Amino acid sequence: MLEVEGLTKQFSSGIMKKRNVSAVDCVSFHIKKGKTLGLVGESGCGKTTIGRLILRLVEPTSGKVVFDGIDLLSLKRSELRKIRPRMQMIFQDPDSSLNPRLKIGTSIAEPLRLHGTVPKDERAQKIMELVETVGLNPEHVNRYPYQLSGGQNQRVVLARILALNPDLIIADEPTSSLDVSVQAQILNLMRDLQKKFNHTYLFISHDLEVVKIMSDQIAVMYLGKLVEVGETTDVYNNAKHPYTQALLSSRRILLKGETPGPADIPTGCRFHPRCPQKQDKCAIEEPEPVEVEKGHYVACHLV
Ligand code: SF4
Repeated sequence: MLEVEGLTKQFSSGIMKKRNVSAVDCVSFHIKKGKTLGLVGESGCGKTTIGRLILRLVEPTSGKVVFDGIDLLSLKRSELRKIRPRMQMIFQDPDSSLNPRLKIGTSIAEPLRLHGTVPKDERAQKIMELVETVGLNPEHVNRYPYQLSGGQNQRVVLARILALNPDLIIADEPTSSLDVSVQAQILNLMRDLQKKFNHTYLFISHDLEVVKIMSDQIAVMYLGKLVEVGETTDVYNNAKHPYTQALLSSRRILLKGETPGPADIPTGCRFHPRCPQKQDKCAIEEPEPVEVEKGHYVACHLV
């Protein structure tokens, strides 16, 4: 369903913008139809940028993105617009995704109207179906976003997305602004919707527990690069990369220092200044990903 190969985004930086800074560096992964890949890493590591690059909300510098056999980066803007409804993104803050001046019913009607997916005389019925599918009540359609809770508004966002019959949903920290109990409800809803509609998810989060619940595969990202990718059980039970090991045991392995910014990427392995297991060559040579078991890739000199 989604194949990402060597995806890279460089920004110009510094005086006269003469320096190229890689926010995303040669990232590759595949997601099968109806499955979820969880993308994890600390904030600022480039996770959100990957979501935006796939949808071409930001133009990649290089690489390949193939969605359902279509090479997205070769499409003209007009061709991309036609395919866009099939690929949707959910953002962290539902309030910023909804127009505060529109009632919920009007907000859900908007994608139906813009994309003409449902005839005008059937729209009211479709809105009610969508409202029910995401677990809202019929009376919510006459309210405004400020009259609903964060969790209810995230349900409205999901209803708007479902109105477009998407195949791929990129969920960028969709529950991190919600209370823990509400988070669980939204995650359960997303899993139920996936079962029902066979959605493919790219689930972006800094929260490993959330990613573990949601994902079939996990990709761990550090400073613009993937350092470990594999089936969720393999990565959680047999993490090979020192960064993944540290994330999974954050109370036992404390990482020294802060993550450097993309403008100060260390030489060799970019994790070496913080790595508790670094070797002499780690500061000089960048490790390439190695397949340590079927479908489990690790970029570290130790493997
Ligand atoms: Fe640590 Fe070296 Fe592996 Fe990087 S390559 S994670 S510095 S051991």
